[in-house]
Amino acid sequence: MIRYTRYLMPTTKETPSDAEVVSHRLMLRAGLIRKVASGIYTYMPSGLRVLRKVERILREEMDRAGAMEVLMPSVVPSELWKESGRWDAYGKELLRFKDRAEREFCLGPTHEEVITDLVRREIRSYRQLPLNLYQIQDKFRDEIRPRFGLMRGREFFMKDAYSFDADEAAAAESYRKMYEAYRRIFRRMGLDFRAVEADTGSIGGSSSHEFMVIADSGEDAIVSCASCAYGANVEKAECMPSEPAGFAAKEGAPRKISTPGKRTIEEVASFLEIEPGMLIKTLLFETSCGDVAVLVSGAHEVNEIKVKNFLGADWVRLAAEERVREITGAPSGYAGPVGLAVRILADHSVRAIASGATGANEKDAHLLDVVPGRDFSPDGYADLRMVTERDPCPRCGGGLRFSRGIEVGHVFRLGTKYSEAMRAVCLDPDGKERTLVMGCYGIGVGRTAAAAIEQNHDEDGIVWPISIAPFEVAVIPVNMKHAEVAAAAERVAQALDAKGVEVFYDDREERPGIKFKDADLTGVPVRVTLGEKNVAAGFGEIRDRKTGETRRIELPLLAEEALAMVEKKKAECAP
Ligand code: ATP
Ligand code: MG
Repeated sequence: MIRYTRYLMPTTKETPSDAEVVSHRLMLRAGLIRKVASGIYTYMPSGLRVLRKVERILREEMDRAGAMEVLMPSVVPSELWKESGRWDAYGKELLRFKDRAEREFCLGPTHEEVITDLVRREIRSYRQLPLNLYQIQDKFRDEIRPRFGLMRGREFFMKDAYSFDADEAAAAESYRKMYEAYRRIFRRMGLDFRAVEADTGSIGGSSSHEFMVIADSGEDAIVSCASCAYGANVEKAECMPSEPAGFAAKEGAPRKISTPGKRTIEEVASFLEIEPGMLIKTLLFETSCGDVAVLVSGAHEVNEIKVKNFLGADWVRLAAEERVREITGAPSGYAGPVGLAVRILADHSVRAIASGATGANEKDAHLLDVVPGRDFSPDGYADLRMVTERDPCPRCGGGLRFSRGIEVGHVFRLGTKYSEAMRAVCLDPDGKERTLVMGCYGIGVGRTAAAAIEQNHDEDGIVWPISIAPFEVAVIPVNMKHAEVAAAAERVAQALDAKGVEVFYDDREERPGIKFKDADLTGVPVRVTLGEKNVAAGFGEIRDRKTGETRRIELPLLAEEALAMVEKKKAECAP
């Protein structure tokens, strides 16, 4: 049992000025964390209790899924990162430094290299597979904009797991197991979440899902189908190809028209009195594979990640004004595909334009009656645009819903990206070498706790799901100086403690209002209150933090009733 007078849980009324999101504000106000430097925090006693509970669920479900816990170092020698090629590719998020002998190291932002090095040394035969190793470990990423408290820190705990299999089919099974384990994990934490298809980003690999906690403050936009199980990050969400318009018009040529000062889609469309969808928007990108023009219907937006993936490029960025002038001979806003001497990619939406308008590659001029296939020929058509609310579900044709989410977990099928680069192999039944097929699976411990708060709070404070609450029951004597009240409170607290309930006993000589406010702020799911009148009459009160529902219970039954309520809440967090 924890007694407030012997505990460090400094709560505050003031809203910290630099905290932009609710979880950050409430974590500070409830005394869960304290900032040391940008994106770097100390976990206070009650904050650490929450993290430990998250970790316990993670361990239980990883173990259940057959993964084995290890612990790798956070300081990693550069050699391993050079072998995988990421020492150069990873960028500034990787904190690099040298030891006294001038050897280069980094603080591990993720551990594919270290684990692949371990496994290539220890695994010989297919008989030792499948193998899944996980750790819960301190990561460091020198994030460009650390913010939102534990949501995007620089130093943070992550559960990361890595699977190794002899072939793709077995790797798919390992992935499925982790996916299922993740669903159990977030259900046990009482969270409303979706698993959505995601881009694989800098970690690489063939396919991946992000686990998103649904919250308006989420940094990610996701779509999910109202009819089937399809869900995707908007970065990744597929768009069905538009019906090709029959390119009937074979004769004639585009007409040049003067459009002084009209550069944006809206300006040009309203000036020409046409629908934005009749414009062939032309964006110029500089990429690691050279300059590329990307065409999309004026009613749509280009999705840079799709462009990058289509090209297989390391990077893509919108061309700067100067480069646009060099390529098109005109300031930006007047680019068009006709006569353009760079590689041209077109989104499927351009196919639906039988005859459209586009920039003339000349200042203050556009072309009308431009026919794709006649006046220009893209080097390829592909899905290169952002999904919209009008798009049908790519799986079933149903309607798509947009929502915002916080990415708390991510599962990847890595294929052989790391095992090939680092030569991690096993011998198959015929004694032949096979490159191991890998998967990797991450969950942010602190971010998950923060996401739980984003989803579960009210104007008074946190409303913890009981499975990750720092304490299960708060026992509050309204007046410690009143001997009977204090004695009754002590008895209930002791009885609950004896039953294994995590009790927070507010034994301070504070006014009841202050104690109630703190109990609400810190979000303890069940509150037991001992008031003077009630105790004199032989009663106490039980209050549900979530619903506010209060019941008056006879003193001898108080602990039992509180315990029943704890059990009921725990059952609601069943996997
Ligand atoms: P994001 O897109 O939010 O930057 P990421 O894609 O870089 O995240 P992963 O590499 O997939 O993240 O890491 C696995 C998990 O680690 C994430 O799902 C998230 O829960 C957690 N995580 C990643 N970066 C941070 C961070 N800066 N602070 C706290 N948790 C993080
Ligand atoms: Mg991610």
